[in-house]
Amino acid sequence: MSDDLQARDRQIYERELRGFLPARIFDAHVHFFDGSCFVAGTSFPANHPYSKVGSTFGPSDYLAWAADALPGVEIHTNSFGHPGPESDRDASAVYTGSTADNRRSYGLALVAPADSAACVRRRVEQNQLVGFKPYPDFVTGKPVGEVTVHDMLPAEQMAVADELGLVIMLHIPRPGRLADPLNQVQMVELCERYPNARIIFAHIGRAYFLSNVVGFLDGIAACPNAYIDTAMINHEGVLEYAFRNFPRDRILFGADAPYALVRGKSVEINNQYAYLVGEDYTMGTGIYDAEHAVSFTTFYYEQLRGIKLAAERAGLERCEIEDFFFNNADRLFGSVVRAARHDM
Ligand SMILES: [Zn+2]
Repeated sequence: MSDDLQARDRQIYERELRGFLPARIFDAHVHFFDGSCFVAGTSFPANHPYSKVGSTFGPSDYLAWAADALPGVEIHTNSFGHPGPESDRDASAVYTGSTADNRRSYGLALVAPADSAACVRRRVEQNQLVGFKPYPDFVTGKPVGEVTVHDMLPAEQMAVADELGLVIMLHIPRPGRLADPLNQVQMVELCERYPNARIIFAHIGRAYFLSNVVGFLDGIAACPNAYIDTAMINHEGVLEYAFRNFPRDRILFGADAPYALVRGKSVEINNQYAYLVGEDYTMGTGIYDAEHAVSFTTFYYEQLRGIKLAAERAGLERCEIEDFFFNNADRLFGSVVRAARHDM
């Protein structure tokens, strides 16, 4: 069956994607890790998406996948480890640094509020990383649903980010996601208090369904140091809204590999969303199609399809499509490295 699915993937690529994709793609949202990145004794269950890639996913794995699935496209990356309690954050930073050349591949350090400012500075500088990847689950002392943006990024850590001009890849917290009133206030506060940091709001602020995004990008759109990435968003309406309502030179392509290598699609249902999943892996609000009612392609291809449709509807020029897929991120990450060199 998988051969059959791979043959269908090839048809999708030839018919729908090859003519649309530029020669270079910069994926600004990738998880790279190997066994050295986890605390001793960590193992992921068989139905965890990481099991699909053998619990190790590095640049060579991604490039091998891309050579098959995106033939003719040169892949550049910004990566970070697994943002969960299973990760050894220092070891992950060492691994991420070892995979990044700061030209074609960049990396971020996982950071938790418990890490001191000196610790996160060292993690970035010793491994020549370009920023921080916090995560709601790294905040302790309150239920994860009550975590705030400012809880995730203590002022001392943000002072380091502002001083060094670092990138922050922010997975915003709270059940209300982008539409949450406190998030709306704190996202803008973060950008305004630390104007030299560059804040990427991952997954378009986690707005996977239309009512979560409409009307809620204006605050950060007005902040020149705010960016969004499109990781795991395949909803053409959400993507079209972003292309129309957020500065196009600050929208970055991200795919969220290795999650995006799973077969599935994110769908809007009654002002919510679910991941319909074609393989038996557990993913957030996932619904597994155990009866194989439909045949799936990867989340990755579904994202590219959504982007293509949204770009057509929003009237993106060819050069804007190339900026979105490559130049915006290449410029952003390159500028962080150049600023750091200048300081030395
Ligand atoms: Zn991710």
